Amino acid sequence: MRACGSGSNFNFTHKRNYQMTEAPSSTPKTEKEANPNFPVFNALQSYEHEQIVVCSDPESGLRAIIAIHDTTLGPALGGTRMWNYETEEAALRDVLRLSRGMTYKAAISGLNLGGGKAVIIGDPHTQKTETLFRAFGRFVDGLGGRYITAEDVGMHEQDMEWVYSETKYVTGIPKSLGGSGNPSPVTAHGVYMGAKACAKKAYGSDSLEGKKIALQGAGNVASYFARYAAKEGAEIYITDIYEDKAKALAEEVNGKLVSPDEIYGLDVDIYTPCALGGVINDDTIDQFKCDIIAGGANNVLDIEDRHGKMLLDKGIIYAPDYVINAGGLINVAGELEGYNETRCMEKASKIYDTILDILNYSEDEGIPTHQASNILAERRIAQVGKTHKIYSSKGHFSGRLGEMYMTNRR
Ligand code: NAD
Repeated sequence: MRACGSGSNFNFTHKRNYQMTEAPSSTPKTEKEANPNFPVFNALQSYEHEQIVVCSDPESGLRAIIAIHDTTLGPALGGTRMWNYETEEAALRDVLRLSRGMTYKAAISGLNLGGGKAVIIGDPHTQKTETLFRAFGRFVDGLGGRYITAEDVGMHEQDMEWVYSETKYVTGIPKSLGGSGNPSPVTAHGVYMGAKACAKKAYGSDSLEGKKIALQGAGNVASYFARYAAKEGAEIYITDIYEDKAKALAEEVNGKLVSPDEIYGLDVDIYTPCALGGVINDDTIDQFKCDIIAGGANNVLDIEDRHGKMLLDKGIIYAPDYVINAGGLINVAGELEGYNETRCMEKASKIYDTILDILNYSEDEGIPTHQASNILAERRIAQVGKTHKIYSSKGHFSGRLGEMYMTNRR
């Protein structure tokens, strides 16, 4: 078992000038720096967002917020979420948090994309109409490609088709419309490669043969992952809240069915969360007997800094969720360039190297892996950002991606 050092100093202050030596923080600027007369600008400055766009169309009932966090690397990409937020403050908080996360995810994945996100305020079960989504699409289009949207929680294929009717700045569209379709196979491939990188760090070999894996969830990502791992000879323990799903997958990959509550405390080598967020928390950390946590689920650290540090102290190797599950983003980014599944799979394979870099940096600096990853992401943004100071006659394009928009899409 390797030793990720401990004893780091977490008293970071956040300042987004991406200096190489400075660690990021999930903590916004302190209240005393905020000017109460400028609440919207305070919100933008707290995580140093570039822009928010508040979209209102009373005719269709559209109330939406688009947040663009950082476009140093390219256009801001991130899905649209439809949710029945109780207050507009809650909606704003969510869109700011999610868009910032997209900046880091794109940067660490080597993509030429910035971070953005949109939220539509409303009940996804009762308030969806064609006109609402078409109105939203026109607002997205008005940003001229600074923001590219995709499907997220509460949105479905038909909704995205309506958005797409009004703007070409949409990705992750169905195969029937010329898009890339379900991203889960690419996501799972990235998770598999990331898990192998963790094994390499922990055991000196990246083989999963004979490794015991606790797989939480038997959905899309989990199923593809289980097939990869089983092919390599891993012993897989599978759970899902729908027992029939878990049972079917267990039969297919010759795994063992376990109950949802058992999964955290199993005596396994690797825990692979592929179901829901918040699963690394005060209760579960005490139960873990694994050496490695590497899975596809989003937001698995309940309280990022606290539980990331607890894993470091416990000597558990943690592959940061937003890095290891970036195959989905890699897939939709590939669609913007003219989709090629083989190329996306190859790019997702590189998650192996990225995870190893993060684990090594975490060990060298004695910091949790999620912080190591944030620093490396910021480093790339800083380095690429510097090149943008050089005058280019096509400076308005975002590299190859920008050209693609002008040529390949309608
Ligand atoms: P999915 O809905 O196909 O599968 C999730 C499975 O988890 C379902 O079968 C569900 O029944 C099960 N589940 C829910 N709560 C559970 C619990 N408490 N215990 C055990 N099982 C439980 O979703 P998916 O597309 O496979 O995504 C899985 C995770 O990966 C999600 O967190 C998602 O946000 C994340 N993710 C997915 C992609 C992708 O390409 N699909 C990309 C990035 C991240």
